[in-house]
Amino acid sequence: MAPTLLNQDNHPGLARIPPWVLAKCSPKAIETIKKVYDWVENECIPAEPIVKAQVAAKKWRTPPYIKELRKRAKAQGLFNLFLPRTFKESPGLTNLEYACCAEIMGRCYWAPMTMNCHAPETGNIELLAKFCNEAQKKKWLQPLLDGETSSAYSMTEPDVASSDATNINCRITRDGDTLVINGRKLYGNAAWNEDLGFYILMGCSDPENPNPWARHTTVIVPKDTPGLKMVRNLTIMNMDWAPEGHGEYVYENVRIPAENIILGEGRAFEIAQGRLGPGRIHHCMRLLGQSERAYELALIRAIDERKKPRGKRIADFDSNIERIADMRMELDAMRLVTMNAADTMDQFGNKAGRYAIAQSKIMVPLAAAKIIDECMQMFGGQGLTQHTPLPELWTYARFVRVADGPDAAHRHQVGRDQIKTAKGFKERHERYQNRFEELGPKWGVEPEYIRGDPVHLL
Ligand SMILES: Cc1cc2nc3c(=O)[nH]c(=O)nc-3n(C[C@H](O)[C@H](O)[C@H](O)COP(=O)(O)OP(=O)(O)OC[C@H]3O[C@@H](n4cnc5c(N)ncnc54)[C@H](O)[C@@H]3O)c2cc1C
Repeated sequence: MAPTLLNQDNHPGLARIPPWVLAKCSPKAIETIKKVYDWVENECIPAEPIVKAQVAAKKWRTPPYIKELRKRAKAQGLFNLFLPRTFKESPGLTNLEYACCAEIMGRCYWAPMTMNCHAPETGNIELLAKFCNEAQKKKWLQPLLDGETSSAYSMTEPDVASSDATNINCRITRDGDTLVINGRKLYGNAAWNEDLGFYILMGCSDPENPNPWARHTTVIVPKDTPGLKMVRNLTIMNMDWAPEGHGEYVYENVRIPAENIILGEGRAFEIAQGRLGPGRIHHCMRLLGQSERAYELALIRAIDERKKPRGKRIADFDSNIERIADMRMELDAMRLVTMNAADTMDQFGNKAGRYAIAQSKIMVPLAAAKIIDECMQMFGGQGLTQHTPLPELWTYARFVRVADGPDAAHRHQVGRDQIKTAKGFKERHERYQNRFEELGPKWGVEPEYIRGDPVHLL
């Protein structure tokens, strides 16, 4: 790509950023994006085999290489970049500026971890920064921001439809200044990783409340609380996702102090609504980074002179030329969709960004999984083996269709909101009709008649 006014030194980290986005990035953000790019290119992607070997050697320990990078990233000001500048703890980027960083980080699955920008930590930190009191922030938020411990989010349950959180059934009962928790939970990072410090749990504290949105409470549960047991690690698409993993948990008379309630009893829905906007966009931007990497691998394979079915390179078949064009255009379109959501949150707040966030959450994981699937196909058999990272890239795209809320639920919400707009359109089209009835006779045009009646569409 040629240098532009906004990318004068032609830095590759800025090459894919649309001009309208670059124009909105501060000089400090531009420098940060370049630093993130250099970090991922030099310290992360080339070191993937090192991390793989370290995980194989000791599964549930954060690899020493990642720990080392976390220290260095923190010293270089590359920590917690995701936290929007509306928070006093923020390093100062907007959602849109961070979206540019998140795409670059997504090129390597664990790169976000080196910068304390990984899920679910990002959503959890934002939740604690938004809803905790000062004492809670000191105790729970600060160690996360400092990268001294890690946290998990625990909402989903095995026995209810958890995408509708009013169903959450894990019981929280009061016993004086103590809360007693009983229930079962799925997901949330594995307790087997020694860095995990606590769970942010959503449970039902007031099941008889006539308002279903006021029955639930969010609390902090330290990992080593007696009665809390991780039964097993849940594999996702047959992978264990070590070293963070996904646990299956039983809570049996788990007792925590009432001071661990976040925001207040019965206020879990206020928290849940505030939590997921930016996190969903981060997932989408990381998926774009992954998909770009898959696309690059497909391009490299397409021009491989050694492998020529019917004497032609893969790139010389018309169907592949078109496939490559479609992938390129889809990637660029998905980036616009996601960056629009990030910008909408910056301009008007997370609530106003609801549609744009849902649009990204529905469209991007589907498109990413399809693109990575095509890349695997172009690569041939090796594309499905450990010779390429493509299977892992595809699996992440596939699981984001469900994680943080299934796309079907978001689609349902978008569709319902759209149907509410129908009445406004009806009135608008009635205005066209009425205006025609004024204009038509002046110009000698009568309304058409069907069987003697004027045609009224409305
Ligand atoms: C890799 C991964 C990581 C996860 N991490 C976490 C975590 O850290 N913490 C946590 O609490 N949870 C986590 N989850 C759980 C995830 O958020 C839930 O699985 C998701 O919200 C769906 O809930 P459910 O599984 O109970 O499915 P259900 O709510 O039972 O839904 C099942 C299916 O029904 C359909 N459906 C649901 N609603 C609608 C609708 N309105 N219209 C049409 N169809 C609909 C969808 O196809 C949906 O997939 C994770 C899941 C995965 C796969």
